Amino acid sequence: MTQSTTAPSTGLPMSVLQDQDPDAYRIISAEAQRQENTLELIASENHVSQAVLAAMGSVLTNKYAEGYPGARYYGGCQFHDQVEDLARDRAKELFGCKFANVQPHSGANANVGAFMALLSPGDTVLSLPIDSGGHLSHGLKVNFSGHFYNIVDYRLDPESELIDYDHVRSQALEHKPKMIICGYSAYPRTIDFARFREIADEVGSKLLADISHISGLVAAGVHPSPFPHAHLVSTTTHKTLRGPRGGLLLTNDEEVAKKVDRRIFPGSQGGPLMHIIAAKAVAFGEALRPEFKGYAKAVVENAQALAGALASLGYRLVSGGTDNHLMLVDLRPKSDDLTGADAERWLESAGIISNKNGIPNDPRPPKVTSGLRLGSPALTTRGFGVAEMKQVGQWIDEVLASKGDEAVADRVREQIVDLCGQFPMPH
Ligand SMILES: *Cc1c(COP(=O)(O)O)cnc(C)c1O
Repeated sequence: MTQSTTAPSTGLPMSVLQDQDPDAYRIISAEAQRQENTLELIASENHVSQAVLAAMGSVLTNKYAEGYPGARYYGGCQFHDQVEDLARDRAKELFGCKFANVQPHSGANANVGAFMALLSPGDTVLSLPIDSGGHLSHGLKVNFSGHFYNIVDYRLDPESELIDYDHVRSQALEHKPKMIICGYSAYPRTIDFARFREIADEVGSKLLADISHISGLVAAGVHPSPFPHAHLVSTTTHKTLRGPRGGLLLTNDEEVAKKVDRRIFPGSQGGPLMHIIAAKAVAFGEALRPEFKGYAKAVVENAQALAGALASLGYRLVSGGTDNHLMLVDLRPKSDDLTGADAERWLESAGIISNKNGIPNDPRPPKVTSGLRLGSPALTTRGFGVAEMKQVGQWIDEVLASKGDEAVADRVREQIVDLCGQFPMPH
């Protein structure tokens, strides 16, 4: 092990792990290989930069920094104050808002803070259920949100498969929710935040926009911003935003901001993950650069190219296509007995990583489903363009049409490894 005598190590290179824990190193190396040689089409995943990884692997993990910059419960927080201020300032600049809390450990934890800041237990919340594209932290019975709050649903229009804003309004008028949630995990279309705010104002409700999936597109101006419409915005930092795994809360309202801070710490978390907060600062810095706009634009173009390829091969896209980074593929028009679970498994054996997903009014149960959710953020990070996405669509169809034939999977996987070699991970 070599170490400079002048500058102390800010974090450890992987070679140290290789020396000191070959078992852990072997597993992590195998995962790096897997990522390098497969096509990552899970819509909620991405590949972070080496700079983000470096910050995550840094000595900032060693510190307890309960509290907020300038008001900590531990000594020695000088640099932690600086790095949290850097992350907050960059987040505010990126999303054009006045207040940011960068401490939530995850998107779900950000929503715990959001619910606690805007509601009391038992209050009514209006949201889109998970089987229509919502997230479990928006009111699923087995989640804290469904356990402690009274949840009422709005729905998608059965014909267009778009948000049924008239139904949002009629549900709001009937149930008088304290909070309405917009923002989803499996919705391929643009969200009309202004329309949601109008409905919220009509019934005196708060509007929470959970932009977990689309925050990178919002930051780049490729999807409309939830500001100035939402009272509070929650997001993950690891999806299209391409930062470390974590959460973020944003608002323009000082009173809401104060409550959010109290509800995250001490309300629902202890010590912040300062190495992750440093990595958030790095990722926000990357997203502020002009190149990130190009990235986000390419994400949407690539999603549309893949959706177009699949549609021309006989698949049905929920809502007819996509405006953002993801699409929901209805497999039934292609073959009656093709399930999402089979498709996910067969594609994985060919090196194409995706996830089964219910389609609106799916007749099959959630562990089987009739759909696949596919997204372009990770492949776009690798540098894939429209031509490659069309090729990916062809491969998906070959594998699914073969019904899991091993020879087909092997042949496709070889071609994929070749293509991956031309688009190595960002360094
Ligand atoms: C991913 C997601 C979350 C939760 O993020 P985690 O970091 O997995 O907790 C919350 N809301 C929406 C809409 C999401 O898509």
